Amino acid sequence: AKEAKSGVTLYRPSMHTDDSSRLLLLGDLRRALDATDQLTLHYQPKVRLSDGGLHGVEALVRWQHPTRGPISPAEFIPVAENTGLINRLTLYVLRLALQQVRGWLDGGLAIPVAVNLSPRCLLDSELVRHVTGLLREHGVPARLLRLEVTESAVMANPAQATATLTELHDLGIHLSIDDYGTGYSSMAYLKQLPVDELKVDRTFVQHMDTDQDDAILVRGAIELGHNLGMTVVAEGVEGTAHAAALRSLGCDIAQGYHYARPMPGPDLDRWLQEQRA
Ligand code: C2E
Ligand code: CA
Ligand code: CA
Ligand code: CA
Repeated sequence: AKEAKSGVTLYRPSMHTDDSSRLLLLGDLRRALDATDQLTLHYQPKVRLSDGGLHGVEALVRWQHPTRGPISPAEFIPVAENTGLINRLTLYVLRLALQQVRGWLDGGLAIPVAVNLSPRCLLDSELVRHVTGLLREHGVPARLLRLEVTESAVMANPAQATATLTELHDLGIHLSIDDYGTGYSSMAYLKQLPVDELKVDRTFVQHMDTDQDDAILVRGAIELGHNLGMTVVAEGVEGTAHAAALRSLGCDIAQGYHYARPMPGPDLDRWLQEQRA
C-alpha cells in the first residue's frame, strides 16, 4: 500500500493482492456462498456467424459484495482458485446455471449453457458425481451443459484432466478449450481430448485487424480447430469489422460486446425477441 504525504493510506485495488486482504476476501467469499443474494450469474450469448442464431450462452459469475459493491471475477476467482473454495464456488455456479436452464426449458426454450471450470476442479474426484447429481436434480439433459476449461488446466495434469474430461464427455456433457492461444498445448494433446469446441482468446481477436501475428494466430486456430473436427468460437468480438473478418475466415461462432454483454437470465428472453424482430 502506498502512503500519502499526510500519512493516510490510500485505497488501491492492488492492496487486495496482500496476504491479509486475500484472507479477508476469502472470508467474505465463504460467507457469500452461504448467503443467497450476493453471487449471481450473468449470461452472454454465443452467436452463429452463419445466420446470427443463438448457439448457447456462457454463465459468468457476479459478486455483489455487501459493503464493497461489485467485485470482478478476475479479482476473486484467482483467490478462490488458490484454495478449495473454488470447488464450492463451482458447484454453486453450476446449480444456479442449471436452475436457469430449467427455467428456460419450462418456458419452452432449450438453451445450452457453458460453465467455466477452474484447473483445480479437474483434480476434484467428486466433480463428476456432483455434476451428475445436479443434472438429475434439475431435470436438465447433459447435452445442454458445456464446461469450459483452459489449455493450462489440462496441461497441469494431463492424465487426470483427460480422465475427468472423458467421464464428463461420456455423460453427454460438451467440452470447450477456453482462452486458446494463451497457454501451451500440443496438437497431439488436443487431439486426444473429447473436446468439440475451441475458444480463441479475446486478446488475439481484439487485435487481429492491426497486429499481423494475432491475425495469423486466429487464422491458425480456426484451421487447427476445424482439422480436429471442432467448432471454433471467437471471444471478445467488439465490432462489425471483426465479425466480418471472422466470418470470412470461416470461424463458426462469435461472442462479444458486438452481439451482447453478459446479462441476467430473465433478460435473455427479451434479447432473443429483439434478434428475431
Ligand atoms: P472468460 O471465461 O474468458 O470469460 C470471458 C470474459 O470476457 C468475461 O469477463 C466477459 O464478460 C468478457 N467479455 C465478453 N465479451 C467481451 C468483449 O467483447 N470485450 C471484452 N473486453 N470483454 C468481453 P468476466 O465476466 O469479467 O470474467 C472474467 C473471467 O473470470 C472469465 O474469463 C473466467 O476466467 C472467470 N470466471 C467468470 N465466471 C466464472 C465462474 O463462474 N467460474 C470460474 N471458474 N471462472 C469464472
Ligand atoms: Ca470462459
Ligand atoms: Ca475465455
Ligand atoms: Ca479469459
